[in-house]
Amino acid sequence: MNNIEISQVAILPTKYGTFNIQAFKDVDGKEHLAIFTDNLSDTPVVRVHSECLTGDAIGSVKCDCGEQLAFAQARIAKEGGMIIYHRQEGRNIGLLNKVNAYALQDKGFDTIEANHQLGFKADERTYEVVEFILKYFEIKQLKLLTNNPRKIESLGDIKIIERLPIQITPNPHNEGYLKVKKDQMGHLL
Ligand SMILES: [Zn+2]
Repeated sequence: MNNIEISQVAILPTKYGTFNIQAFKDVDGKEHLAIFTDNLSDTPVVRVHSECLTGDAIGSVKCDCGEQLAFAQARIAKEGGMIIYHRQEGRNIGLLNKVNAYALQDKGFDTIEANHQLGFKADERTYEVVEFILKYFEIKQLKLLTNNPRKIESLGDIKIIERLPIQITPNPHNEGYLKVKKDQMGHLL
């Protein structure tokens, strides 16, 4: 994690409030973002948001990513804190494989079975760059905005003081997906 290229800090006004934005380019060429408020406390609210182009930008309701991002942005704009926009699309299998997994889901496989059919684990994400970014901001402890308890285990020596849930109302398209996340991947909904 020594060869990370780091941008300047710029101001990013959004419909939820004004943030600062800074980009971190890792050795694989993936560009991650820290989106943060001016008033970072010593225990800030942090959302580690995994990239989901279809949910975040295209309004897909197959998953709850877009809603989770909006919830996090609104809350962090109000309370102060940071969103780390983690560029590991499709739980780190990439967009092409994610669309292939969606095609398998159209045939009746669930999200985990579809990943296995393609030769991937249910979740291929890693969090080294997240740790790097938190350490760069000298964040030693935080309140993590997540429904995924596995994220809590994977931030190394950075202390998670509290887990703040994100409450999303399921829709007919994502209720099956949310149920698999809850029953088989340990998510707390
Ligand atoms: Zn998604």
